[in-house]
Formats: sequence, structure tokens, C-alpha cells
Amino acid sequence: SDFFGYEDSLTDREKQSVLEIRDYLEREVKPIVDDYWARAEFPTQVIQPLADLKIFANPWKETQEFENSAVFRGWVALELARIDASIATFVGVQNGLAMGSISVAGDQAQRDEWLPKMATAQVIGAFGLTEPLSGSDSAQGLRTTATRDGDEWVLNGSKRWIGNATFSDITIIWAKDTADGQVKGFIVDATDPGYSATKIEDKQSLRIVQNADIVLTDVRVPESRRLQNSNSFRDTAKVLRLTRAEVAWAAVGNAMGAYEAALKYTGERVQFGKTISSHQLVQDLLVRSLGNITSSLGLVTKVSQMLDAGTQKDEHAALAKTVATVRMRESVGWCREALGGNGIVLQHGVARHMADAEAIYSYEGTREMNTLIVGRAITGKAAFV
Ligand code: FAD
Repeated sequence: SDFFGYEDSLTDREKQSVLEIRDYLEREVKPIVDDYWARAEFPTQVIQPLADLKIFANPWKETQEFENSAVFRGWVALELARIDASIATFVGVQNGLAMGSISVAGDQAQRDEWLPKMATAQVIGAFGLTEPLSGSDSAQGLRTTATRDGDEWVLNGSKRWIGNATFSDITIIWAKDTADGQVKGFIVDATDPGYSATKIEDKQSLRIVQNADIVLTDVRVPESRRLQNSNSFRDTAKVLRLTRAEVAWAAVGNAMGAYEAALKYTGERVQFGKTISSHQLVQDLLVRSLGNITSSLGLVTKVSQMLDAGTQKDEHAALAKTVATVRMRESVGWCREALGGNGIVLQHGVARHMADAEAIYSYEGTREMNTLIVGRAITGKAAFV
């Protein structure tokens, strides 16, 4: 499904790692995910093998086994989502949002303390930005507060949708400093008194990844667990720029998973005396999906190359996320259509990708929010409020 051979932009060492990851996912993860999806449970047995494949370690210079590119890290997100977008989301929270916050907004001492433990999955992280009353407007609308008290901070508030937080050891909590009104990041330990996380039930998208509502009541965090380089929402946005581009890669992977299942099914199912992939209009559905996947691959490859070249800005990651997720949503629908009724049951390999597309489309900035980020860049006018 990489029709133009974009994988060739990887180095030999990167390709080798991608092949190892693909092999593990095909062998050990693909056979179990429909069952876990149906039960809305997370297969914790995959965490250590993912750590052993250096999936958490490789993005960060403190822990990586070999120097690698942003395109490589994107391919890893793609491979994960091609098999299961929830597992890709779990990884994106651990190595992107949580480790990324410490890497981007922590100081060297914090990076040295936390990244090695997270790279080996000794410590699982979560990222708490969204709140019950603040989603798209979290740059201005956060209600969670942080009040300095001597060498400590006192956190109060609530968070919603926090991925991995049902079992994470730490959560990066973003809260407004009551003194200067700026958003700052805090490493909150799940055992800190006053912290509680409750699983969100009945999701019909990304059912495997566990999301939680968090309540913080007078949670005391030492100054050493305030991310030392987080001084305003601009620093939070730096983390989101990195992870948004990787969500765009995961969107391509999620569409690929559906496309590959549709190609297989339509090559086997017979109607009107021939396989349905012999019918022109079914080929049209497959080719449209492949066209979306191929053009998105070009987009995400370039946006990652821009990161390595130092030219990527917020609006570039936002455009990639928007366009790749719109195309993914369109493609999984076409793949479902190509399967007829069997497209809506888990066993035929498309329904899970179709359902998961909805959450990927809306998290890490909805289509509208990412559109407004690009709109602001091209017109010079912020149209959020
Ligand atoms: P709202 O902000 O209420 O938006 C609802 C609709 O209104 C959207 O269509 C939006 O685009 C539109 N809208 C809002 N304002 C405007 C405007 N000015 N102009 C035009 N349209 C507008 N958050 C975390 O912090 N950590 C996580 O780990 C995490 N994981 C998630 C996992 C899942 C499965 C999901 C579903 C969400 C997760 N989120 C997480 C939260 C996610 O980032 C938010 O859902 C997202 O930012 C949108 O916020 P909202 O759901 O509150 O929607």
C-alpha cells in the first residue's frame, strides 16, 4: 500500500527497525486486537515487547539506540496504526505526549531522571491537558490551577479524556499558575494524595486505549516536578506540534489497515460470477483509497523532513494533521463500502479502523482547530474567538 515507495526515504538501519516492528505487530498484536477492542481492554502484555523494540526510547537523544529521522518515527506510528490505532495512540501518549513534554519542557536533570525509565516502560506516562469544560480552547480556557506554596505547588481541578491514565505511573498535568496566569506543566505521580483517575466507559472509537477522567484535590507537587522550561502555553504547543505530525502518520496507517483488508476481501468475495474486485466500481473505491493514502504519505514525509531541517512550524503540522485525517476518514468509509454488510463486523478487518478514525479525526486538535491554526498563518488573522 506504499504505492510510490516512500519507505525508500528511510536509511537501511531505520528500515531494519521498521521491519522488526512490523513483524512483531503482525505476529503478536494483529491476532488479538479485535478481541481486546470488543472488550474495551488494553493488552498490557504488549508494553514490554514494544519497549524492547526501542519504540519509546528511539525518539529521544538521551535514550535512542541509533540516530534516527522524524520520517522514521512517523513510519513507526504508521506501522502501529496499520495494525491498531489504539496501540498507536498508547505509544503516542507515552513516547510523544508524556516523554515529549519532559524532553521539550523539562530541564536536563528532569530528562535524565525520567526518560530512561520511560524508555524501558518502567514508568508509564500520560498527558493531561483537556478538561471537562475546556477542549479546543485549552490555550485560554484551562480551569485547573497551580498555586505556589514554598517549595511545593498545590494543584486543583479536573481533566478529561486522558489516555493511559487508568494505569499510568505519572501524568503531565497542565495547570494555570494562580500568580501569573500562565499554563505550566507538572509531573504528577499517580500515588500523590488527592489524585484520582476513573476509566471513561462505553467509547465506540479507539476502544483499546484507556482514557480517564482525572480529579486533582489539593495535590502537592514539589518544584522539582514542575517542568522547568514550561513557562506558558507556547511550551505546551511545542509538544503538540511534534505529536500532531505523528498523528497524521498514524492516520495514514489507520487508512492503510482498512485498505489492505478491503483489497484482500474484494479479491475473494464473488458476486455476479466474478470476484468483486473485478467490478469497475469496486476498483474505483480501492483506487480512491490508495490515492488518498499515497498523497497523504507525501504530505507526512515532507512535514517530518521539515522538522529535521528545522523549518517545521505549528501551521505545517496542523495542515498535515487536518488533511491526513480528512483523507483517512473518507478512505475508511470507502473501504467499508467495498465490503458491503461485512464491512461493519470486526472479523473482516475494516470496521475497527472505521470506528477508530473518528477519535483520530478529533483528538490532538479537531479539524476546525487545525484549520484555524493554518488560517491564522496564511491570513495573519486569528479567528478562534
Ligand atoms: P470541543 O472543544 O467541545 O469542540 C466540539 C466541536 O466544536 C468540535 O467540532 C470543534 O472543532 C468545534 N469548535 C470548538 N471551537 C470552535 C471554534 N472556535 N471554531 C469552530 N469550531 C469550533 N486530551 C488530553 O489532554 N490528553 C489525552 O491523552 C487525550 N486523549 C484523547 C483520546 C481520545 C480518544 C479523545 C476522543 C480525546 C482525547 N483528548 C485528550 C482530548 C482531545 O484532544 C479533545 O477531545 C479535542 O481537543 C477536542 O476537544 P473537545 O472534545 O472538548 O471538543
